[in-house]
Amino acid sequence: MQVRTRFAPSPTGFMHLGGVRTALYAYLYAKQHNGQFILRIEDTDQVRYVEGATEVIYDTLRACGLNWDEGPDIGGPVGPYIQSERKDIYLPYAEQLVKSGHAYYCFCSKDEIDDRRAAVEEAGGTWKYDKHCLHLTPEEVAAKKTAGIPWTIRMNAPTEGETSYSDVVFGDMTFQNAESMDDMVLIKQDGMPTYNFANVIDDHLMGITHVMRGMEYLSSTPRYNYLYTAFGWDIPVYIHLPTVMRDATHKLSKRDGDAYYSDYIEKGFLTEALVNYLALVGWNPGDDREFFTLEELVEVFDIHRINHSPGIFDVAKLEWMNSQYVAKMDPEKYLAMATPWFDQALEGKGTDYRRLAELMQSRTDIFSRIPEKIAFLAKLPDYDTAIFCNKKQKSDETVAKEVLPLLIPVLEGVSEWTEQNIHDAVMEQIQAWGRKNGSVLWPMRIAISGQESTPGGAFEIAYLLGREETLRRLRDAMQRLGV
Ligand code: GLU
Repeated sequence: MQVRTRFAPSPTGFMHLGGVRTALYAYLYAKQHNGQFILRIEDTDQVRYVEGATEVIYDTLRACGLNWDEGPDIGGPVGPYIQSERKDIYLPYAEQLVKSGHAYYCFCSKDEIDDRRAAVEEAGGTWKYDKHCLHLTPEEVAAKKTAGIPWTIRMNAPTEGETSYSDVVFGDMTFQNAESMDDMVLIKQDGMPTYNFANVIDDHLMGITHVMRGMEYLSSTPRYNYLYTAFGWDIPVYIHLPTVMRDATHKLSKRDGDAYYSDYIEKGFLTEALVNYLALVGWNPGDDREFFTLEELVEVFDIHRINHSPGIFDVAKLEWMNSQYVAKMDPEKYLAMATPWFDQALEGKGTDYRRLAELMQSRTDIFSRIPEKIAFLAKLPDYDTAIFCNKKQKSDETVAKEVLPLLIPVLEGVSEWTEQNIHDAVMEQIQAWGRKNGSVLWPMRIAISGQESTPGGAFEIAYLLGREETLRRLRDAMQRLGV
């Protein structure tokens, strides 16, 4: 059997992390079976149409390396791959179901349905479409259609019995038909199919063998099986995926800015780290390995190891993983990616970004934190002179008061302002003064950074600041110390 999986997003303008993970698993499964991964855009809900939304889907999948074998932009043997362009395909199938008694035309208006619903609910019942139009004769149907009354086509759902199926992740599922099914609309008044209908028709016509989607579709799957059976088609293998959650009780949410792929990219996470981490949200390789390239995931992914409890998306863990990826990045690529973040803090200061990048690469967990980490280079923070005190470095305010004035002429005398020259000049004097390194370098670094912990030491920071700013900050410190 040729494995064919699909990712079937609705173009909402955003890619939910759960969606990215669904696409990833569907891709991995197809690739490890030398099968095809298909992209299908489910845009039959025209009310929800968002301009540019398909591009968001393409861009996200491409960035993640999830290249599709067939899809809207590249075509394929069973296209089109955008449901709105398939509009005319669905009606004949619905009519076939009408003929076989599995579906029927419905002419009820929204108002009529609302009235009947209200009556049922007032009497304490739960509304379900009441098969009002099921018994119209073909002649009555034809007459109403001719009269121009808007119509839909509904599924004639069974009202008793049960439907069972087996899901790869959730095991054997059984639903009572009376509860899980209703006479859902298959073709809407605007002629478009509903998702409920189109997914079945398209998965069949596109030869999809394995359907991966969110677990929210578990309970509607009996309806789809009813349709597959009515057509006499094979039912695909179902692999429903647990929801990606922030923690045991909270979903990722748009409002909290943690639900979409773009939220993470904007914060400066690396796509590779995100994809790697997402693979592990709801699946594990069975050992303690955590780092995988996409190619490695294709090798080790196993649908039987997908968990059925919710996948917890732990941002702290992702940050850690991201920092590991950043540390291993090609330095040129790091510099290119870090530059806009350096600019945010240092634009126009003429700082040596290449040197800064060398210092920052191992200290970057997510790129968006860079500006706050280097803000001290742009502007000396206000600080308490108590931080001059460090027992281990043999420094305190008295030492700083002695040392800082001595450093001024030394730094003024450095020929060309390079890190090496600064180092050599200061180290030479430390020897000449007979002082401990720490007792000079600690106050120097505190004075020019205004903070206890910094990326880089006194020489690096002095170099990055430039001579003038370094001297200004030393004098500022002397003033603070009352020298
Ligand atoms: N368009 C559906 C969604 O975005 C797809 C569900 C499915 O994969 O069948 O949720």
